[in-house]
Amino acid sequence: MTVRLPDGTELSLPAGATGLDVAMAIGPRLAEAAVAVKIDGELTDLGSPVTEGAEIAIVTLSTPEGIEILRHSTAHLMAQAVTELFPDASLAIGPSIEDGFYYDFDLPRTLTPDDLQKVEKRMKEIAGRNTEIIREELSREKAVEMFKEMGQDLKVELIEDLPEGELITVYRQGDFVDLCRGPHVPSTGRLKVYKLLSIAGAYWRGDESRPMLQRIYGTSFADKKALKQHLERLEEAGKRDHRKLGKELDLYSIHESLGAGLPIYHPKGATLRFVIEDFLRREHRKRGYDPVISPHIMKTDVWKTSGHYQMGYPMYFFDIDEQEYGIKPMNCPAHVYVYSSHTRSYRDLPLRLFELGTVYRHERSGVLHGLLRVRGFTQDDAHLFVTPADLDKEIIDVLDFAFYCLKTFGFDEWKVMLSTRPEKSVGTDDNWDKATKSLITAMEHHDIEYTVDEGEGVFYGPKIDVKLKDAIGRLWQGPTIQVDFNLPERFDLNYIGADNEQHRPVMIHRVVLGSMERFIGALIEHHGGAFPAWLSPEQIAVVPVADRHIEYANKVRDRFNEIDARISVDGRSESVSKKIRDHQLQKVPYMLVVGDQEEEAGTVAVRQRTGEDWGSIALEEAVERISPDLRMPRS
Ligand SMILES: [Zn+2]
Ligand SMILES: [Zn+2]
Repeated sequence: MTVRLPDGTELSLPAGATGLDVAMAIGPRLAEAAVAVKIDGELTDLGSPVTEGAEIAIVTLSTPEGIEILRHSTAHLMAQAVTELFPDASLAIGPSIEDGFYYDFDLPRTLTPDDLQKVEKRMKEIAGRNTEIIREELSREKAVEMFKEMGQDLKVELIEDLPEGELITVYRQGDFVDLCRGPHVPSTGRLKVYKLLSIAGAYWRGDESRPMLQRIYGTSFADKKALKQHLERLEEAGKRDHRKLGKELDLYSIHESLGAGLPIYHPKGATLRFVIEDFLRREHRKRGYDPVISPHIMKTDVWKTSGHYQMGYPMYFFDIDEQEYGIKPMNCPAHVYVYSSHTRSYRDLPLRLFELGTVYRHERSGVLHGLLRVRGFTQDDAHLFVTPADLDKEIIDVLDFAFYCLKTFGFDEWKVMLSTRPEKSVGTDDNWDKATKSLITAMEHHDIEYTVDEGEGVFYGPKIDVKLKDAIGRLWQGPTIQVDFNLPERFDLNYIGADNEQHRPVMIHRVVLGSMERFIGALIEHHGGAFPAWLSPEQIAVVPVADRHIEYANKVRDRFNEIDARISVDGRSESVSKKIRDHQLQKVPYMLVVGDQEEEAGTVAVRQRTGEDWGSIALEEAVERISPDLRMPRS
């Protein structure tokens, strides 16, 4: 029998040879590194027989596919260990996820962190047995019968939901059997580098009306070094967690008793947000946007015309005087009303309407997460009404604007995605094509590399998504730009062209920073809470050495107030070192210590939060040196 390798060479093998045999024929080192095989592009177990003339590629841990198989196999190893420790355990599902895997269990008691260690220890034992992992094919009836006998009702439910006639596969490793499509590594001994990370609650099938299961998260890697780096990254991410820093820096809070997913900004968080909003208002004005403000609730008829209603958009509805209203999940319809409040000519276009619009969406409680997934949030939202001829240029300018803003807030790297027409959508093929083409043209103009997310567009148009890369390499949702031919049609928008005829404008929906909440979450984690001075809610703290220096400290504050610095005097009766430590923990960029010597000489002793000490310098010199750092950047 002959098979082909990816480089085109042919390999002769005895009949009945498996993927593993191919790997061994190529070389013993490859066989050792192999975790699965691709037969004519189809990923399968190493033990699968290869077919005459097939193209064979050996999958190792040096590829993302290989790592995924490793992680998924480790999830099974963990499930086996849990079943050995808790014979009554009911097994749900255990997929690999980004950076690791999880498995959901129904257990007789709540797990503790100690249990994770016990499970990990048992996993080592099982891996030490180096049991072969064997694939078996079963009929649906046989599979149901087998899992019923084992008391695995959740598995039975999964099998019963599979389409009639589908081939069912199970994997056996020693006494442990699990329902799975595979593929897996050939034996438990191949699972060497892993770590269990945390325990969480998860509803069976994500359904809040079904039982709450216990989920164990873990991860595995090709080698110890990669695992160590990952754990260090996790630790760093933990230190930067915006929920932790949001509390420590007293920026915001979220209360179950007030409403999940509804953040309240505390004075420092609100100050930070005002600075961001001031920046946005200035930049939008400079780029020819006009401000508008729209109501938070609008009649349901409006949402029917826009299509949100029929599309089952996650909105909140309620009645006033027997008339149904919806709380706005988007600002678009109101901006459309501004457009249509006048007869428009081509000379009025492009019309760019900007609003810091607060919207509400009914996110499931299970997905809420700090400031990143909330139910109420404010977008830096704008709608551009343009002629088809101006469309490309306007998108080019929006991209330019977006990247300028990201850089100003300290983000230097991003990933760009183009999302195309989803299954559930409105509008003609022709309009979708035109809209998609314009987005591509604008990206090409900026030489932007992008990936395509097939079918991930919004229901009314394709979009560009920009994801920001933070200081530790994680991606955050940022700007989005959507081209829309549909809303202008649904709301019957027109303008008079140069030919004196009526024409349809095109709409661009765009946000630059996205949601204020999510962006502030990203800012906190990117900067680890130490915002650039121009963004810091508190820019300067004046620290009087003793009560008798408070009067001079106030004078220093008044002088900095003249240049609009955000400054306060720390008049607490604490030691100077305690006060400095507190302000350092609060990430205040500048501390000005004033004592007898400073008061006499009209100086201040400047310290930065980084620990850098400028010594005592004249007050005016301090104003001069510090003020450029406090100012909002300008383009
Ligand atoms: Zn599996
Ligand atoms: Zn919109």
